[in-house]
Amino acid sequence: MPYAVSFQQVSRHFGTVRAVDAVDLEIEAGEFFAMLGPSGSGKTTCLRLIAGFEQPTSGHIEIFGETAEGVPPYRRNVNTVFQDYALFPHLNVADNVAYGLMIRGAGKAERTREAEAALEMVKLPGYGARKPGQLSGGQRQRVALARALVNKPKVLLLDEPLGALDLKLREQMQEELKVLQKALGITFVFVTHDQGEALSMADRIAVFNEGRIMQTGTPEEIYRRPRTRFVADFVGSSNVLSPQLTERLAGVAEWSSLRPEDIRLGDESGQDATVTGTSFLGSATRVTLDVSGEKINVLLPSGAPVPSQGESVRFSWDKNALHLMGAGA
Ligand code: ATP
Repeated sequence: MPYAVSFQQVSRHFGTVRAVDAVDLEIEAGEFFAMLGPSGSGKTTCLRLIAGFEQPTSGHIEIFGETAEGVPPYRRNVNTVFQDYALFPHLNVADNVAYGLMIRGAGKAERTREAEAALEMVKLPGYGARKPGQLSGGQRQRVALARALVNKPKVLLLDEPLGALDLKLREQMQEELKVLQKALGITFVFVTHDQGEALSMADRIAVFNEGRIMQTGTPEEIYRRPRTRFVADFVGSSNVLSPQLTERLAGVAEWSSLRPEDIRLGDESGQDATVTGTSFLGSATRVTLDVSGEKINVLLPSGAPVPSQGESVRFSWDKNALHLMGAGA
């Protein structure tokens, strides 16, 4: 089975800006793949390269084993859901959804049938006659999704599709998108700058920074075994420890990362620290420690005794929780 998408040394430069810089990427067929990274790191440009809205400055792209070179967007078997949904306000929901079919010359009966089937998929059956202006943000998002699915693409590109939704709706749509993706078996490529969203939804994640992929892996790998300081910092809320502190704690002079939830307080054989602050987060309490002048966050489960500011404490961690990242990470 060929990869759904493969990039070989793909770059896209705009003048002196290296939006995408020598990227190698392989996305499996049927995978839910997230591109995660800060604003301006090149995620959207990668998506646009897959869609065919953008051409590489150099390098090679294949979609399902076939070169994308010279293949226009509408012939790529790829569809995009944009953050702003881009619905036509004057068309009703059914006509919005069936738009791609109309362009392809499908007859009225087929359009009506397929649009209704797609609306059922996104749990909006019977909404065909409404105008986009008569829908909530979440419903508009579903219509945009139905419109992309009606063409039965092999790859669906989603550019921050949940960005405009409030937290609760966002969480609900995250679940629904995951279920829908697995049920349809379509390859989803999802762009987000929200690490929680990437971790909870994706089968695999590529972490972007400055036009490059810093690491690709399962959410577990990215979270537990970040390979660089950037990934450790960006994904989750890991403590990044200097080589000096790592040497003191673990006897090896390398950068390392240590997750706040992997640290325990009160172990008498542990290391010395001073509490510099505490914040109640609802389901947990964050305690900030000063350890030889470096700040370390600890996440205590709710109900655990919370030390006070200025108190001297001892802390410890499971041996394999401290993750080494090399001398120059
Ligand atoms: P965001 O999360 O903010 O959407 P992103 O990771 O998707 O960011 P891109 O939109 O891919 O980032 O942009 C990467 C870099 O390329 C940025 O520095 C951006 O300003 C630049 N860039 C993107 N498109 C163009 C363009 N058409 N012309 C010039 N520069 C561009």
